[in-house]
Amino acid sequence: MLNLIRELWFLKRDIVSDDFDRALYRLAEEVPMTIHEYPTGEPCWTWRVPEKWACHEAYLETLDGRRLLDYADHPLHAVSYSLPFEGVVSREELLRHLHVHPRQPDAIPFVFKYYERDWGLCASQNLRESLNDESYRVVIRSSFEPGTLKVGEVVVPGQSEETFVIVAHLCHPAMVNDDLSGVVVALDVARVLGGHSGRPQPGGHVGRPQHYTYRFLILPETIGSVAYLSHHEGMVPKMVGGLFLEMLGNDSPHALQGSFQPGSQPDRCFNTALRHLDPQGYSGAYRTIIDNDERQFNAPGVRVPMLSLSRVQAPKASGLPPYPEYHSSLDTPEIVTQERLEASRDVVLGLLQAW
Ligand SMILES: [Zn+2]
Repeated sequence: MLNLIRELWFLKRDIVSDDFDRALYRLAEEVPMTIHEYPTGEPCWTWRVPEKWACHEAYLETLDGRRLLDYADHPLHAVSYSLPFEGVVSREELLRHLHVHPRQPDAIPFVFKYYERDWGLCASQNLRESLNDESYRVVIRSSFEPGTLKVGEVVVPGQSEETFVIVAHLCHPAMVNDDLSGVVVALDVARVLGGHSGRPQPGGHVGRPQHYTYRFLILPETIGSVAYLSHHEGMVPKMVGGLFLEMLGNDSPHALQGSFQPGSQPDRCFNTALRHLDPQGYSGAYRTIIDNDERQFNAPGVRVPMLSLSRVQAPKASGLPPYPEYHSSLDTPEIVTQERLEASRDVVLGLLQAW
């Protein structure tokens, strides 16, 4: 898992992008995967698939040509889905478009404007505070063109068509705990359930078919879930439960967030099982810990009871970030360990065994 993370983490995995595709095709070499494609402009219920975005070059310079930041050094320096822009701007205007991290003075923040149509760069607070000139030169050479949004699906068939869905997103450029950690844990669970790992399956029966069918979805956050669900409406009634995975490599106990239906079978089962699987772990109600694709699965008209498992350090009401390096250039392979990823994989397998 950590080797895969080291290989893929620095890719510019914007929601519809060449590097997202590169990462997904690489993951498809690990487990048998079907890749669904949804073209730009395709209606997905009330949403539409956005264009493929690429940033070819982006930098900020003083007027005498001293380069202050460069997209070539780090993909977070450009706002994901930034409009192209080129020109000399006043310091005031620059500051309206130059984003910094709210808590980490040395880090570059992760900022995305998928549907807002604005230009923007990202820098450390320290760099922003050093800007004293009257004007600066901005270059953002980005392009929007037709492409396809991709969703990777791994199916471990069971005796029943009743399906349990496990979801992780892959669309966070050059970050690890959020979101690659959930992806590699999900695929390792798929390998175990599919009998490709030589490890016993939950229940200890190597190679014996499960009762439930397990479906793993690797996708760009939110729009990927909407695209998949809107094109598989007939499958929704068969989805009897689900689990969203991310932030599984940092050093906090497991956090289990309930579904919109707290009395559902998976909610009751997982809450009981977590007490045994991670005695330090804690549970919280729907939308009190972290928000991800489980929202689309729990949404009106879908209503799949999908929980989420993460290592968020405290519920949202605490005011703390999910973990200190969240949505910043400090979310690197250094903050996750193979041991913690394996422990999380075993918690997921334990939850499924209880289920
Ligand atoms: Zn995120």
